[in-house]
Amino acid sequence: MWRRAFLVVCVTFLAATVAAQEVRSKDGPGKAEVEELAWITVGADAFETLKEHEDAFAASRPLSRFGEVPGVVLTRVRLDDLDAISVVLHEAYRRCPGFVRHWTLADARRALDALAAPPAREPEAYTIDQPQAVARLTAAIEKPQILETIERLSTDFNNRYHLHPSGTAAALWIRDQWLAYAAGRPDVTVELFDHASTDQPSVILTIAGVTIPEEVVVLGGHLDSTSFNGGGTGNPNFIAPGADDDASGIAVLSEVVRVAMVENFHPQRTVSFMAYAAEEVGLWGSDEIAAAYQAAGVDVVAVLQQDMTDYFGSDEDIGLINDHTTPALTAFLGQLLDAYQPDLVWSLTACGYGCSDHASWNDRGFPAAFSFESLFGEHNPEIHTVDDTLATLGNNVDHAAKFTRLAVAFMVEIAKEWFEPDIFADGFESGDTSAWSATVP
Ligand SMILES: [Zn+2]
Repeated sequence: MWRRAFLVVCVTFLAATVAAQEVRSKDGPGKAEVEELAWITVGADAFETLKEHEDAFAASRPLSRFGEVPGVVLTRVRLDDLDAISVVLHEAYRRCPGFVRHWTLADARRALDALAAPPAREPEAYTIDQPQAVARLTAAIEKPQILETIERLSTDFNNRYHLHPSGTAAALWIRDQWLAYAAGRPDVTVELFDHASTDQPSVILTIAGVTIPEEVVVLGGHLDSTSFNGGGTGNPNFIAPGADDDASGIAVLSEVVRVAMVENFHPQRTVSFMAYAAEEVGLWGSDEIAAAYQAAGVDVVAVLQQDMTDYFGSDEDIGLINDHTTPALTAFLGQLLDAYQPDLVWSLTACGYGCSDHASWNDRGFPAAFSFESLFGEHNPEIHTVDDTLATLGNNVDHAAKFTRLAVAFMVEIAKEWFEPDIFADGFESGDTSAWSATVP
């Protein structure tokens, strides 16, 4: 009998708390301190693991299934438990973070529906026909620049946790770096993307496409970091250098931006570089951006994720993630490697649900791909610790340079370079502006 009474109380409590959360969410997602409960989606495997560790989340018990599609479960936890959940999923699967946080139950259900829905945009027939542009930009890549970015982020901002002031300072530093690269280019914008969920902003640099500006190519990585030791995330002294995870991804993006500017690259399609906030706590930054782009109807034609690029842990040089990514776009990454870095060995590998920001795009139906530093599981064992440093990477960025070359090829071959027509060539008079809208094959 007491069991029945207990059940009734629980169900009533459950209904009340669901209602309370929905009411709180009515004015849009609140700042983190307002929300005490969090809806998350996790892999079905991860859900079972979390059930086994329910004791670690005393306030969250029992973990319930509020919805599910094949391979993914919707559940609800206390916001305070997200760090502990990260630890469990990192230890069991080494995912980073391995779950996606949603702001309301309705948002979470939409995410599940999207997972089961056909893609919003079919991948296209990708082509490789820009060898000169790829060679020109690739030749401009400078490893010391990649090293410098990793060093600055992992030492000057050695705690980029989204709640830490240094995490916001790091975003501003990346913005300023990108602004400096883009000086003198009126077709390039650099902006902070302010989030409803966290004070840490994301950073977005956009090169306007000349002939097809409405089609957008995205290259992204996360700017935040975390650490499970060194005093915990609430300790102001906690250290999370995140050199590999993911200063190395931001360093790749920054170097691609730099060479695009140095080499005066003008794309036919729009290209956006995104340094995402708050990935480590459930893809908050990329999730909000992808949702905003989807709501605005932005035609994102391809997304490439850079998360961990500088630890050479497998026999293979590059792992191409083949779950929660778009097969045709992943295959195209392989073709780009075969064409432009034929000495490299690559292999397909799976990282599990919600392992990085590509999932925020892929799970909304945008074509997305993810090149990873190793086969999954053979990656840097020091991530999410105080030892994720440049020293652990041997103070060497040879491995990250491979990802930089791949990202250059991806940008050039999908966005395609636009050349200013020679207006003094046959058929054009000086001052004839009609040529400016011409598409050069
Ligand atoms: Zn990461």
